[in-house]
Amino acid sequence: MNKLYDVIIVGGGPAGLTAALYTSRNKHSTLLIEKGLIGGNINEAEKVDNYPGFPKGIGGMELTALMHEQALLYGTEVVNDEAIHINTEDNIRTVNTTQGDFSAKALIITGGSERQKLNVPGEKEFSGKGVSYCATCDGPFFRDKRVAVVGGGNAALYEALHIAKFASKVSIIHRRDQLRATPVVQDKVFAEPKIEVIWNSVVKEVQGEIFVNKLKLADVKSNKESFLEIDGVFVAIGLVPNTSYLKDIVPLNNKGYIIVNNKMETGVPGIFAAGDIRENSIRQVIAAAGDGAVAAISAANFIENQV
Ligand SMILES: Cc1cc2nc3c(=O)[nH]c(=O)nc-3n(C[C@H](O)[C@H](O)[C@H](O)COP(=O)(O)OP(=O)(O)OC[C@H]3O[C@@H](n4cnc5c(N)ncnc54)[C@H](O)[C@@H]3O)c2cc1C
Repeated sequence: MNKLYDVIIVGGGPAGLTAALYTSRNKHSTLLIEKGLIGGNINEAEKVDNYPGFPKGIGGMELTALMHEQALLYGTEVVNDEAIHINTEDNIRTVNTTQGDFSAKALIITGGSERQKLNVPGEKEFSGKGVSYCATCDGPFFRDKRVAVVGGGNAALYEALHIAKFASKVSIIHRRDQLRATPVVQDKVFAEPKIEVIWNSVVKEVQGEIFVNKLKLADVKSNKESFLEIDGVFVAIGLVPNTSYLKDIVPLNNKGYIIVNNKMETGVPGIFAAGDIRENSIRQVIAAAGDGAVAAISAANFIENQV
């Protein structure tokens, strides 16, 4: 039989890294499974200025590198793999991944969320060829180019402000007649001469040849269609929780977020969830880290009460 860990954590963002710090520092053998880059969504943030302890702000990647280092210091093992299913048998929780199976006494799910897709023709075809979901990652490729940002919340506006540092023009495409972002962020956008807002509009199609060159738009009030010539489009219309493989395993709400109580218990013995993936999360690093700590302590209590 494979090694039996005390705790397996699925997802290496701030929630998972904090849970790993707590469980491994508590001398519980811990395996963290991360399918992508350790650090999660906050890696995309150029600067985080609302995480306590860093009065001058800190780069998202720099912050998660420190969290990672701290978890490793206490013995967390990390495997780069994707969890695709979970089984519970004889009080052991087994995570099936694309490469094998890993078992533990307790499981903490911290898979966070990922960007909602537009689901329009051309989006998939031109993904990586002008269609992007991360301005921090891809913004510099659009120096002196015309770029669109789809969305009207904080994430979309931050993307637009970031891209405006490089692009010649940024068009925010928003389906309503007012933005959802907080007023202070809106003020920054309206003060940036390179940014325009195209109101009441949705993207119907992404078009191009080798790379994207235009968007087909529709006015939601008049249904009138138009074309916007661009060199790139950044999609920032919201997030979907990474729970597609968990449907029959833990209770999810109607949006797919995991339902937990204030101990981060899912209701399935020995399975906990923390961070952006859980219902009613405020989706901030500080909250994800706090949830991770709570889940780790609950998992430790669970393990100790099993003995
Ligand atoms: C552009 C941007 C800017 C932001 N700025 C701020 C900010 O300034 N301040 C702030 O507090 N918050 C900010 N946030 C929000 C913050 O990033 C999130 O609240 C935080 O990252 C949530 O952490 P998490 O660990 O719950 O989830 P995530 O960060 O989403 O991490 C989840 C991890 O789990 C992995 N994973 C998912 N499914 C699986 C699977 N099946 N198997 C293995 N691994 C899996 C993912 O690859 C990911 O690495 C920002 C977010 C974005 C996108």
